[in-house]
Amino acid sequence: MTAAKGYAAQSPTADLTPWNFERRELGPNDVQINIAYCGVCHSDLHQIKNDWFPGIFPMVPGHEIVGTIIKTGSSVKKFKTGELAGVGCMVDSCRVCDNCKDGIEQYCENGNVGTYNGMGKDGVPTYGGYSDNIVVHEDFVLHISDKLSLPAVAPLLCAGITTYSPLRHWKVGKGHKLAVLGLGGLGHMAVKFGVAFGADVTVLSTSASKEEAAKALGAHHFIVSKDEVQAASVKNSFDFILDTVSAEHDMNMYLGMLKTNGVHICVGAPSNPHKISAFALIGGRKSVAGSGIGGIAETQEMLDYCAEHNIVSDIEMIDIKDITESYARMLKGDVRYRFVIDVSTI
Ligand code: NAP
Ligand code: ZN
Repeated sequence: MTAAKGYAAQSPTADLTPWNFERRELGPNDVQINIAYCGVCHSDLHQIKNDWFPGIFPMVPGHEIVGTIIKTGSSVKKFKTGELAGVGCMVDSCRVCDNCKDGIEQYCENGNVGTYNGMGKDGVPTYGGYSDNIVVHEDFVLHISDKLSLPAVAPLLCAGITTYSPLRHWKVGKGHKLAVLGLGGLGHMAVKFGVAFGADVTVLSTSASKEEAAKALGAHHFIVSKDEVQAASVKNSFDFILDTVSAEHDMNMYLGMLKTNGVHICVGAPSNPHKISAFALIGGRKSVAGSGIGGIAETQEMLDYCAEHNIVSDIEMIDIKDITESYARMLKGDVRYRFVIDVSTI
C-alpha cells in the first residue's frame, strides 16, 4: 500500500479536513500519479452533501486531476514515469458490456467506477483528486500535452469533456444556434467549444454581471434569463440548449426558446426532478435529452483538440484551506469559472 494524504468530508454535514489514507499496491497495469492540480466541480459539492444519493464517507472528492506519472506497473504500455497524465470522472468499468466495447464506458451497463464515492473492483471505496497521489489502471488515464498551462487543463477532465461530448454527438456547429444555459465551470467550456465548432452562441444567465465576460469568452449574444423582456426576445430561437444548471429551474420557459425540433440537452444535475409540461414539447416536436461526461477515447480526442486549438479553462487557483469558502462562492455563481486546487497546499 502507498500512503496518501488528502482532504475528506467525514460526513455530509462536515467541512473538508485533512485525512490520511492508503492507495492500493500498484498492479501490473496500474500507474501512480503525483497529483499537481485538481479542479473543483459542482458535482463534488453535490456528492459531499448527499444531494444525489447517500455517499461513501469519508469522501475525498475531485475528478479533474492532472499530474505526473511517478510509477508504472510491470505491464504498463501507454505511460512512462515523468510523463504528464490526467484522470477524469471514472477509473474503471466492466469492459465487457456493449457500451464499454463501444468506447462509451461512462454508460457502462454494469456501472462505471467513479473516481471517488465509488466502489473499486477490489471492494475498496475510491478516493479522488483532493489528494497528493492516485493509483489508476492505465486504460483510464489520459495523456496531457505540455503545450498548455497544466492547472488550466485540469477542468477539461470533467467540465471539458462533459460539454464537448454532447456538442459532438449532436454535431453542433456552423448554421446552428446554440444556447448555453448557466455560465459556470461547464458553461464557460460549452461557450468555448460551441464557438470553436462554428455555432452562433448565446449565453442564458441569471447573472447580468457576466455579460462582458461571456462576450470575452467568444459568446455572440447574452440574455439575462430573469429579465422577462430579454427572455421573450429569444422565444423559438435555438436549435440546441445545453443546460449546465446545478439547481432547480423553469424548464418550460427554456423549452419555449427552442425552435421546432429543437433539443434541450441536460448535463447539469439538480437534485430534484425537472417538471416538464407535455405541451412545452408537443408544441414544436421538441426533445429533452441528457449526456454524461464522455468515454476515454473521446476524452483523449477532446484533450488533443484543446492542445491543437489552444483551449483551456479559465481558472482561479486556490489553496486547499480555502475549499469551504470556495464551495460557498461556487454556489453563489461567484467564480470565473473554475476553482483549481494547488495540490502542493494539501
Ligand atoms: P457551476 O460552476 O456552479 O455552474 C452552474 C451555473 O448554473 C452557475 O454558474 C449559474 O450560472 C447557473 N445557476 C446556478 N443556479 C441556478 C438557478 N437556480 N437557475 C438558473 N441558473 C442557475 O457548476 P458546474 O461545475 O458547471 O456544474 C454544473 C452542473 O453540472 C452540476 O449540477 C454538476 O453536478 C453537473 N455535472 C454534470 C456532469 C455530467 O456528466 N452530466 C458532469 C459534471 C458536472 P449563471 O450565473 O450564468 O446563471
Ligand atoms: Zn465534474
